[in-house]
Amino acid sequence: MKPEVNAMRTIPKTTLVAQIERLVIQAANVLGGEVVACLKTAREAEASPSLARHILDEILENQEIARRESVPLCQDTGVAVLFLEIGTGLSFDYDLSEAVNEGIRRGYQNGYLRKSVVRHPFDRKNTLDNTPAVIHERLVPGDSLRIRFAPKGAGSENLSRLAMLTPADGLEGVVRFVLETVRLAGGKACPPLVLGVGIGGNFEKSAELAKEALFRPLADEAPEPLDRELEKRLFAEVNALGVGPMGFGGKTTCLAVKVNSFACHIASLPVAVNLQCHAARHTEIELRGEDA
Ligand code: SF4
Repeated sequence: MKPEVNAMRTIPKTTLVAQIERLVIQAANVLGGEVVACLKTAREAEASPSLARHILDEILENQEIARRESVPLCQDTGVAVLFLEIGTGLSFDYDLSEAVNEGIRRGYQNGYLRKSVVRHPFDRKNTLDNTPAVIHERLVPGDSLRIRFAPKGAGSENLSRLAMLTPADGLEGVVRFVLETVRLAGGKACPPLVLGVGIGGNFEKSAELAKEALFRPLADEAPEPLDRELEKRLFAEVNALGVGPMGFGGKTTCLAVKVNSFACHIASLPVAVNLQCHAARHTEIELRGEDA
């Protein structure tokens, strides 16, 4: 008897390109409701009157205007970062990366968003369409494609850091490094921040963990108890630094801390801190495969 062959499914290229274009424009113009709610809570916690409260009012008004007028909430519309979870039951008769970049291209062009990508770090020639995107791909069971998109501005990205600590540095070494990163960034990373902290793996894995942590819902908690405890501790200690909104002092230096961890070498303790400014923009969609 012949083994049963499961029919492959696909996502039409036109659907993929159109959805990515939509995700790009939405992310640039509309700050997520969860971030807005966090900013409102932070505003209430600041003294009244205070510079911190005034700045949070300005940030809240800015995102409201952006949403209403369909304009970007920040001039820096970033490098396009995507995490793709690709169902193993999907097949594509086109180049997936090329199609993703076409969606990015259309989003930045049709949304009138600033093109911020240069061809090479030395000749600095603008590619004029914000491609290529930084694309992280992962195979998962099923026949859906989950797309998560973030436009990552340079202000907070430039102040992100990575350290190859040793096991002897331990938890306290990680805490010191995270606090030092936030202190060094000061107002330049446009706080209040969301902190993505990646611990473990190796050099590049820790950075990817930190980046992906920024896509987590602000209100969730790490599944691993050790990470969960660290998130709570860092949230309190980062806010105790007093950097405050845009670095002018106050109780709100971060809105959330997200710790993602991974197994690592017996001799290593990599830690990456990816800073996300208050324009914590990201959008996502899950596309179900259609009959190929
Ligand atoms: S750090 Fe964020 S808010 Fe500041 S300029 Fe860059 S994208 Fe805009």
